[in-house]
Amino acid sequence: MTFVIPLVPQPTVEVMGTDARFPVHRIYCVGRNYAKHAREMGMDPDREPPFFFAKPADALVANGTPVPYPSRTANLHHEIELVVAVGAGGRDIPVANAPAHVFGYAVGLDLTRRDQQFAAREQGRPWDVAKGFDHSAPVSAIRPAAEMGHLEQGAIWLEVNGEQRQRANLCEMIWSVPEIVAELSTYFELRAGDLIFTGTPEGVGPVQRGDSLVGGIDGLETLRITIV
Ligand code: MN
Repeated sequence: MTFVIPLVPQPTVEVMGTDARFPVHRIYCVGRNYAKHAREMGMDPDREPPFFFAKPADALVANGTPVPYPSRTANLHHEIELVVAVGAGGRDIPVANAPAHVFGYAVGLDLTRRDQQFAAREQGRPWDVAKGFDHSAPVSAIRPAAEMGHLEQGAIWLEVNGEQRQRANLCEMIWSVPEIVAELSTYFELRAGDLIFTGTPEGVGPVQRGDSLVGGIDGLETLRITIV
């Protein structure tokens, strides 16, 4: 087969313990999945459940890669998140079966043009320019669940220039990973290769050019990103 323009390369993520890589189909994200973060965004988590949005797969950034400060924002925010890598697809997946669809876990940053997000919110507009810009999805190597089991608790944290900005526990998520997989699969047919950013805890804030971001989750590869 030939193509009239160069074929776009498939985005992939490193997998711990192997040279084989994880090919990425889509990137889904959960919004407001930690109560204290929902409140710091001015929302009431008791009245409004979490929800979904998406980033393009080619927004992925490999661990250790410099991230260019994006255009059209003066308020780029960090959001450290657990990322779920889907290894088997499906629709209307029951919560009890959801772990069997998870290939593994990684650490991700849901980089956000916060000023654009608030403007979109006020004007009832979509979030794409706030959330789905180029280089907006740094992700660590994936650790297979077959090796470590499924993550239900553990520390999640982010430091900027050595100073702690975010720290929480995965057990504080409003929707657990199985609940996220089940709920998302009622909106979209999940496919092997999908990544799901599961939401950020409290403590989000701005980053500047030159900042060094180090984020971790117990048991997973530490994510290290510099804004340039
Ligand atoms: Mn987020």
